Amino acid sequence: IFLSPVSGRRYEGENVGTSVLISDVTELKKAEGIRSQFTANVSHELKTPLTSIKGFTDMLSTGMVQSPEDQKRFLTMIGVEVDRLIDLINDILELSELESVAIEQAGETASPLDTAREVEKLLAPEAGKAQVTLSVCGEPGLARIASGRLKELLMNLMENAVKYSEPGGKVEVAVTKGAGTMTITVADNGIGIPPEAQERVFERFYRVDRGRARKNGGTGLGLAIVKHICQLYGGFVTLDSAPGRGSTFTVTLPAGE
Ligand code: ADP
Repeated sequence: IFLSPVSGRRYEGENVGTSVLISDVTELKKAEGIRSQFTANVSHELKTPLTSIKGFTDMLSTGMVQSPEDQKRFLTMIGVEVDRLIDLINDILELSELESVAIEQAGETASPLDTAREVEKLLAPEAGKAQVTLSVCGEPGLARIASGRLKELLMNLMENAVKYSEPGGKVEVAVTKGAGTMTITVADNGIGIPPEAQERVFERFYRVDRGRARKNGGTGLGLAIVKHICQLYGGFVTLDSAPGRGSTFTVTLPAGE
């Protein structure tokens, strides 16, 4: 608690009292802590691919890599790290935009079923490569959300479901209409998330298995973005998961007209 005397007002020469402003700085301090932790995490996440790029370019420029095949392989690895940096920066920008937008963007609606089908098509090559079957079903209807945000939310959840599945796995997306709500479930029978990590996966940069996430090219920001989007539009996201059995993410959004 921070006490600050606001004024010892004098009225016609007479002291009529002192006002004290009482403000709780606990929240402020917490926000500052989160911000500086975020800055530290971002710096670390940016540094890792940059260090690799520097290593590869040093080796190429000193002539240590002789054969054209090896040179090409190094250039490809540099490309992968650069893509990673671009993804990371895009996600950081997206999060900061989501944080600065005022709650509720009046009037915009989008169809979860149509959007999920659109994302299904976009993910088809990735699902094919991972040997994962992706399916979408459910009821038509509108949710009160900007279509770009809904697409991004579904892209993050559906792509994760594919990424964290084993070959032969199944990802099922279902859309249901409730009383004034639209609910989307994204269910996979993949690797699952241990109970102690289930709250934390929505935190920025938290990953259950860093090695696997890195191999999959994740930024660690996808679920933080999903949670922010839900909150922005008056909805919420829940998770039901068990290691080895799979994960189901459920998003509930207000229905549109
Ligand atoms: P990432 O870019 O690492 O995938 P996310 O914020 O999207 O970051 O997810 C955070 C972490 O949550 C992932 O690194 C992974 O450990 C876990 N995770 C997310 N979705 C799933 C899922 N469908 N199945 C298993 N683990 C998941």
